[in-house]
Formats: sequence, structure tokens, C-alpha cells
Amino acid sequence: MSISPIKISLKLENEPAKVKAEHNHPLIFALILGVLGALLNSFPVELAYSISLVLGNLAFIIAAAYLRPALTFLCALICVAPLLIIWGHPFGFITFGLEALFVSFMRNRGWYLPTADFLYWIVIGMPLTALLIWFNNIDAEAYILFSLFKQSINAVFYTAVAVIVTFVFGEKLKQWITPQQPPLIKSLKQYLHYILWVMSAFFVVGICLFLSRSLNDIQHRQFDEKLNISSLYLSRIVENYVDEHTKAVAQTANNFSAIEPDEYASTLIKAHQLYPGYLTMLVANNQANVTASSPGSLLADIPNNSLSIADRTYFSQAFYNEALYISPVFLGRGFGVEPIVAISSPFYYQNSDKPAGIIEGSLNLNMFEQVKQVEGGGDEIAIVLTDENDNVIYADKALKLITLAKFNFSITQDKSKHKLMVVGKEGGSSKNYLYRQVDLKNGWKIFVIIEHVQLLNLIEQQYLAIFMSLFLIFVFVVLLASQFAHTLNQPLEYALKELARGGEKKNYKTIPFEAPTEFITLYTELQQAQKRQLQHQHLLEEEVAQRTYELNQANEALKELANRDSLTGLYNRRYLDDKFSELQAILSRNKGSMMVAMLDLDHFKDLNDNYGHLLGDKCLEYVGQLMKSKFDRRSDIVARFGGEEFIIVAQHDDNQTVMEMLEDLRKEISHHCFPYDGQQYFGITVSIGVVTADATYSEKIEQWIHFADEQLYWVKNNGRNKMSVTHID
Ligand code: GH3
Ligand code: MG
Ligand code: MG
Repeated sequence: MSISPIKISLKLENEPAKVKAEHNHPLIFALILGVLGALLNSFPVELAYSISLVLGNLAFIIAAAYLRPALTFLCALICVAPLLIIWGHPFGFITFGLEALFVSFMRNRGWYLPTADFLYWIVIGMPLTALLIWFNNIDAEAYILFSLFKQSINAVFYTAVAVIVTFVFGEKLKQWITPQQPPLIKSLKQYLHYILWVMSAFFVVGICLFLSRSLNDIQHRQFDEKLNISSLYLSRIVENYVDEHTKAVAQTANNFSAIEPDEYASTLIKAHQLYPGYLTMLVANNQANVTASSPGSLLADIPNNSLSIADRTYFSQAFYNEALYISPVFLGRGFGVEPIVAISSPFYYQNSDKPAGIIEGSLNLNMFEQVKQVEGGGDEIAIVLTDENDNVIYADKALKLITLAKFNFSITQDKSKHKLMVVGKEGGSSKNYLYRQVDLKNGWKIFVIIEHVQLLNLIEQQYLAIFMSLFLIFVFVVLLASQFAHTLNQPLEYALKELARGGEKKNYKTIPFEAPTEFITLYTELQQAQKRQLQHQHLLEEEVAQRTYELNQANEALKELANRDSLTGLYNRRYLDDKFSELQAILSRNKGSMMVAMLDLDHFKDLNDNYGHLLGDKCLEYVGQLMKSKFDRRSDIVARFGGEEFIIVAQHDDNQTVMEMLEDLRKEISHHCFPYDGQQYFGITVSIGVVTADATYSEKIEQWIHFADEQLYWVKNNGRNKMSVTHID
């Protein structure tokens, strides 16, 4: 049976970095953002006439937060592509492309996105858009200011949205892409500026745009209502006016049928006085010759019955059809050359049903101007009145339409499906109007129109207001953020200063400014932490001092141990050298003399053999202790030289004393009894070789020992248990 080995995989610490690197494809990130932006841009949010909110550009602003200018530019080009079709011109590539480059570049230099974008539109975007509109005669030429504001406000809005997106999804995005842009490290004040500006721009522009959208609808409806009321009212007035004058002609014709021909002229003048809306009035006989006129002076220069109106429709229609007739508009003749509308009616001979002639009145068309003024629609409303042949009967002078000419217009629809009337030459200076058309009973048409620009002007004013309020908010935000930052910074700086001085004193001052509770908690925590740390530090210092002291003690002890012989407790040979040099130097300076004695136990080998090493050791210990007790001055050196040999170095001013001491030592050793085996005793002896000389004799201990050894040798050869001394001059 075989056991498969257990595989253990350890997670390496740098593994996450590897995963991160795998996802780091800036080009793919730019492309994805570009496509998403393009999708959003394909569905602009309609706000008002030809005003739509472009939101997709937020994609390249997001790109600018992470990518270098080149890739951000690429992203912008993709985003803007749908606008080429929607707007019908390629200028978006220029303005938005530059915007992407600029914003990414400035972001790289440490600018915040909204600030960079705002700067772009003020310094480059708006002037550039103005130039493009100016040089390319785009139909928005009339609304340059409006277009500029619209673009900038739009940009502020999508930038704010982009910043909010990066704010919310920043962490997730960073798992996908390692930013090419440096991190933004800003002061609290700058950070507050940024946040407040983004938030207020987002809400103010967002709310303003959507409010203005409904406001525009309301305005549009108001205009519609005005058109409805005006058109109805005006059509009534015109109809009444025409009716009244038609009735006047019919009534006069009726009267004529009951009077003698010689009364025609005076009756006509009376009738004209009642209806001053007629420019002129005339009476024609059954031969179509004018027999009377009002004013009467019109016929003064014309020979009797020589002015014929046989070719005029108003005669033939009224006379032959025996019906009331209202003519289309035509150019007057004989009684003036103004465009007129003629209203005519046949009259009859007394007590006969044969028509005797017609009565005609030429309607004063300029009367409609007064009609319009009566209506009170103001300057914004204009009217056009056409006859059944669509020729202009009356039009406001400002419209520059020619009376009698055909009223030519076309109808288009704006983006919000409102019908617009286009008046003017194709491709020339045509104007768009909101309009109402009312067909009158007599086949005339009345058009009440309002120039569309007026509506746009209102919208333009709204956008101007938004732009101005954005500026005000910007100023307000800067002030507010500064104040806010100051309020936060003041206690922070105070607390930092206080904590920095914490080491010197025990009590911390409370912050004398208003500060958030979290902040005060933090301050208290830091105080306590610092106190604890100081206490801890103090304890540590004490402990370290104690340890150092102990260590020094141990060192000293160790040194002593290293310098001493473990059996006898005397200085060892190495330390002897050091001590000798010290003593020799001191005595040399003081011109003192010095003694070196060498001691060797006699027949010690035999002793070991007879009584054992342990007893041998005891003897060595005893000798050591004895030497130490005899030579106990500070300057005396007693050392074990090796085996059973010892060295004594001492100052030797008084020759006799030291020699006696050595002799005493030798004697005391030889008299000492060492117990052995309970009842027996044994003794030892020692041989001593001594050399004395001025301390300056030699710095080298070997030379001194050499002579001492010589003396010792002599003693060993001459009976042992003696002392021999030599003096060197
Ligand atoms: P002499 O009188 O000529 O000095 O004879 P000796 O036997 O003392 O001299 P030798 O140099 O032949 O022998 C020295 C002996 O000292 C040999 C050794 O056994 C003994 N010895 C050396 N060191 C120690 C020690 O630390 N302990 C004991 N017990 N014996 C030691
Ligand atoms: Mg020896
Ligand atoms: Mg010996």
C-alpha cells in the first residue's frame, strides 16, 4: 500500500501583487470606459429645445483619474463618436478631446479633476467653442453665449458625477487597474474644497437642470396658451370687423333700393361716416360706371359716369350674381393704389327686382394694426392675415412681409415635437416661430406667431443664472472650506503641540477651541497613551540601570576569577606579569628596591604519591593562605607560578624585615602538621630562592625570576628547607 504525499501549498506574500499586475491593462480600461461613455452619449437627456445633457463624457473624466493623457484622449474620442451623428458636426472631438488631454495632464501634476476641468472650460473650452461656432456658421450662432454656458454647465455636471463615481467605486477600480496617475496628497483645506465643490456642483447643477427642464415645459405651455387665446380673440375681432362692414354694405344697399337715385351720394356719405373702417365707398350703376363716391372729392376730376369698374370682380360678382361679395385682397385703382379688400352688394330699383347697380366699400387693411393693439398681446406676438388665396392681407411690419404677396412658410418640428413655422428664404435668414392658425368663415386665415428665439432667450437667462450661481457657490465653497479647515486645524495643532511637550510635564491642557467629540476622545486617548509610555520608559530605564550594575559586578567577578588560581585563590601567572609591571614602574619612579622570591615545595611528588593528590592540594592551599596572610600589604604580590611553585614580589626598602618574614614563613610551613588517616601526621618543607635589586634593574620579570631560580636551585642541591638570597647592584 502506498501513501501519496500530502501537498501543502503556502500562500506567498507577493501573490496578491501578481494578481493585481495581471489585471493591469490600461489600454483595455480606456477602451471599456470609452465604449461605456459612447453608449451613454448615444442617449442624451433632453432638457429643452435643442438642449440635451451629455453624460457619457464622465467616462473620460474617470479615465483621467487613472490614465495618462494619451489613453485618456483615446477614451474621449470613443466617447464623443456618437455626438458626431447626433450633432452633425465633428467639433466635439476637438473640444472634448482637448478637455481629456488637459484634465489628465493637470491631474498628473497634482490637480483635482473638477478644478482642472473648470479651469479648462473657462480658459480654453469656452473661447474655443465660441470660435468654432463663429467660424462655422452653425445654426446656434444666435445663441453663442447660451451654447457656451450650456457646455460648461454640462461639463461641471458630468465631472461632478465622474468624481462621485470614482469616490464610490475607487477601491474596486484599483483592483483592476494600477493607476498611472500619482496619488493626491493634499491638506485638509484642499480636500474640503474638493469635496464641497463636487457635492454642491452635483446637486446645484443637477437640480437646476431638471428644474429648468420643467420650467421650460411650463414656459412652452404658457406660450401655447397665449397663442391660443390671442388667435381666438383676434380671429373673432377680424371676423366681427369683416362681418360688421359686410353688414354695413348690405344695409346701405337695402336702403338704396328704397330711395331715389339723386339721394345716393348723400346716403353713401352718411353710411361711410358710420363705418370709418372703409377707406373709400362707391356706387356704380347697371353700366358699371361709378356714379357716386365717398369721400365725394374722389370723383371731382373725373367726367360724369366715365369711370368704369366693369372689369372688377366685386362688380360682376355682386351685380350679375346678385349676391353679397367679399373680394380677395387686390391692388386698388383709381381711388388710390393701396391693397384693398372690396365688399360689394347689389341694390335694386324701387319696387323692382332688377339690380340697379352695386355699392362697394374698400376695407382699410391697416385697421388690423389697431385691432392687434386692442388685443394687447404685446410686442412678442405678431399676426399675419391672409385671404382665401393665401395672399397677405395684413402682417406686422416687423415681419417685413409684402401685402398681396403669397405667404410662404414651411413647418418643422423641434426636438421636443413642437411644431415650428419657418418663415423666410431657404438657407437664408429664416426665422422659426411658434404659431397658431385659425381659418375664418370667409376663407381668410389668421396666423398668430411668436418668435422661437424669445423662448430660447428665457432658457438662456436660466442658464446664465445657473452659471452665475455656480460661480457664487464656488466662492462660497472656498470660504466655507477655509473656515471649516481652520476650525478643525486649530484644535488639532493645539493638541499636537501639547502632546509634543508632554514629556516635560504631567498635566495636559484641555483644548480651548470647539472640537468634535471624536477628536477630544482621540486627544484624551493619546494623552493616556503618552503617560503610559513615559511610565513604561521610566521603568525600563531603572531596569536597565540595575542590569548594567549587575553586569558590571559580574564582569568584575569574572575578571577576578580569570586572574586568580582556582585552588589557592592566589594571583595566577598571567596576572603576576601585569601586577609586576605596575609595581616595578611605581617603585622605579620612587627609586625603591624590589624583592622577588621563588618558593618550591620539597619532594612534593613523593608526598602526592604517599598521601594522595587531595592531601597534596590541601598542602598547596595551606601554603597559599599562609603566604597571603604574611604578605598582605597592598603592594605585595603573591602568586602561584605553577605546580608547587610560588612567587612573592614585594617592596624591599628594609632588607632585614622582608627576609625575616620569608624565614618565618619557611619555618611556619616546616612546623605545620597535616593530619592524615585520623591518627597520623605529616609535614612539608619549602625551599626559597630570593633576589633583591633596585626596582630599575629590569622591567622584565623573567630576569628577576632567573636569579631567584638560580638561588632555589642552589638550595635544592644543598639540603632543601632553606632560603638563599642574592643581591644585584
Ligand atoms: P623537589 O624537592 O626536587 O622539588 O622534588 P619534587 O618532587 O617536589 O619535584 P618534582 O618537580 O619532581 O615534582 C613536582 C610534583 O608536584 C609533581 C606533581 O605531582 C606535583 N604537583 C604539581 N601540581 C600539583 C597540584 O596542583 N596538586 C598536587 N596534589 N600535586 C601537584
Ligand atoms: Mg618544583
Ligand atoms: Mg618541589
